[in-house]
Amino acid sequence: MVIPAYGSGAMPSVWQPEDMEELRMLRNRLNGSFCYAAGATLLRTQWEGGLVPSPEHMISLARIPGTSDVYLDGDRMVIGALTRLNRCITEGLFHHLPLLQEAVKTIAAPSIRNVATIGGNIVSGVGDTLPALLAYNAELQWMTDAGLEIRTLDSWLKGGRDGSRNPSDVLISIQIPLDKLPVSDLKNQEPDAREIAFYRKLGRRETFSASLVTIAFQGEIGTDGRWKKVAIAAGGGSGVAMRLPASEQLLLREKASLMQAEPLGRSASAEFVTYGDVFATEQYRKQTAGNLLGAGLWEALYR
Ligand SMILES: Cc1cc2nc3c(=O)[nH]c(=O)nc-3n(C[C@H](O)[C@H](O)[C@H](O)COP(=O)(O)OP(=O)(O)OC[C@H]3O[C@@H](n4cnc5c(N)ncnc54)[C@H](O)[C@@H]3O)c2cc1C
Repeated sequence: MVIPAYGSGAMPSVWQPEDMEELRMLRNRLNGSFCYAAGATLLRTQWEGGLVPSPEHMISLARIPGTSDVYLDGDRMVIGALTRLNRCITEGLFHHLPLLQEAVKTIAAPSIRNVATIGGNIVSGVGDTLPALLAYNAELQWMTDAGLEIRTLDSWLKGGRDGSRNPSDVLISIQIPLDKLPVSDLKNQEPDAREIAFYRKLGRRETFSASLVTIAFQGEIGTDGRWKKVAIAAGGGSGVAMRLPASEQLLLREKASLMQAEPLGRSASAEFVTYGDVFATEQYRKQTAGNLLGAGLWEALYR
């Protein structure tokens, strides 16, 4: 049952600001008695599950111009926070971001992905896109009390622990620096450089399932056969997704080899900080992240 936060019987008001200025004014006027709604797919499950009361006011971000735009800006790809998940699979520009496409394909079902947004997935703090976006060094553009600010996804995720997040900030866009990506570093890419990228999600069943563990791997092997770039991230369930820098260092500048699969798996298991619940122990999640990374690397290099 949906429990309203403001007494029974009443319906929440839905505000639809037309621009940032109106959004800023509304936010100040409603003074904390609201929540932002994008596709509301997650919000609805939270209200119906009695996890959070439905708020007195909702601010829909749908009418703010530009928040669903997707475009290249120099060497960055900009994705409006209100971009629907299905569009991340179908639109041509997203071929620059195959890990993100793979991640989105594992989320819910097409009917939900038609409504759900990438911004909602990120701000939930536990979305399955997070490891892919971490591997891409994604940055987030927020409307804060002090104006527009850019913050790395990594720093924002850590901000959940150190208290540096402000719940009234609005996510405006996701910006991916393409020059840091092996796949799109066309200017500097050696002709025979090889790119390795894979995303894996393990759930309690094959499809339409919440994740237990998710991992993303993005790397580039130079013409000398050594790893030039490596980005590895893991997350899943209600844990906080994270980069695995020690596991990245294990590979960087070393010769790429099938023999690295097993030590990578061991290193990632040890490094991944996660949790246990009734569905899977902490140890199971750690070992699974390591196994998914080791097996993924082995498959990619064996081809
Ligand atoms: C049946 C079902 C299956 C699902 N399966 C998966 C799954 O497999 N993997 C997965 O990751 N998720 C899953 N979800 C959760 C959810 O659908 C996704 O996370 C989705 O991307 C959320 O987007 P939304 O636009 O609906 O967010 P909303 O529900 O509108 O918002 C989610 C949260 O983000 C806040 N928010 C949204 N946009 C902004 C913004 N621009 N700025 C600031 N705050 C904002 C909202 O206030 C809210 O707290 C599932 C949901 C359902 C109902």
